[in-house]
Amino acid sequence: MAHQTALDLNDGRSIPQLGLGVWQVDDGEAPAVVGAALAAGYRLIDGAAAYRNERGVGAGVRQSGLPRDEVFVTSKLANSEHGYDEALRACAASLAAFGFDALDLYLIHWPQPGRNRYVETWKALVRLREEGRVRSIGVSNFGPDHLKRIVDETGVVPAVNQVELHPRFQQRRLRDLHAEMGIATQSWSPLGQGRLLDDPTIGAIAARHGKTPAQTIIRWHIDNGLLVIPKSVTPARIRENVEVFDFALSEADLDAIAALDDSAGRIGPDPDRFG
Ligand code: NAD
Repeated sequence: MAHQTALDLNDGRSIPQLGLGVWQVDDGEAPAVVGAALAAGYRLIDGAAAYRNERGVGAGVRQSGLPRDEVFVTSKLANSEHGYDEALRACAASLAAFGFDALDLYLIHWPQPGRNRYVETWKALVRLREEGRVRSIGVSNFGPDHLKRIVDETGVVPAVNQVELHPRFQQRRLRDLHAEMGIATQSWSPLGQGRLLDDPTIGAIAARHGKTPAQTIIRWHIDNGLLVIPKSVTPARIRENVEVFDFALSEADLDAIAALDDSAGRIGPDPDRFG
């Protein structure tokens, strides 16, 4: 089994650095996909209410036979559920779907600044943590203004901000702010949804290490101190993507990948306009 690394969060808890993303995994397929990942050594599953597979993910965790406290499960509050009471109810529904007493990490999926309800939603997450329904709380797709506002209004700093981040969109300014604020950065679409796998720079580095492009990119996230959640439903790729703890990138490799950053490299929606 692959040896895993973990990072410390600002709330005293610890989080596996690598996990499996389950966006676009069918609920019926989720138990087998989660089972393959846990058998391969993954200990974190990145879910969301919007992925409509919380039931299947929960079943996969139970069927693995691993103690519940050895698997870190994340979910995210759906965009339609912003608001204090709405968020409390949405979390209860997610817990029921998973069949869990508590989640390890609960995130606000998108800030939706146009709706302007994310502060009251954040207050509900603070309460959910106080009540023990979730162990850590964080956000996703939050920009500097959204982060500063929730901290100013509640005094509670998110443990994690999960954002689009890959070699073609490296988010250096946001990462610097996270470092100042004590927020862990989690990379979504870490492989650029597969589009970075045929990049020649990545290919050359991969060949030098005897690793695949996917492993090279995942290792880049780890060597940068990021949390990373690549997605696959194919057992061989699931295994491949966790076999990244037996090598490290050199300074020259890291410099070459740093040069791939592109301010126009965003694949997903702009959080300021989404929702
Ligand atoms: P990704 O960058 O992880 O790429 C996944 C795709 O890459 C797969 O569908 C597959 O086609 C390919 N792939 C994976 N491993 C491979 C391998 N070893 N060899 C060849 N091809 C391989 O993209 P993603 O699914 O968009 O992102 C990962 C996870 O991030 C999601 O599943 C989800 O959990 C999370 N996410 C969160 C948000 C958010 O708003 N918070 C948005 C998007 C994704």
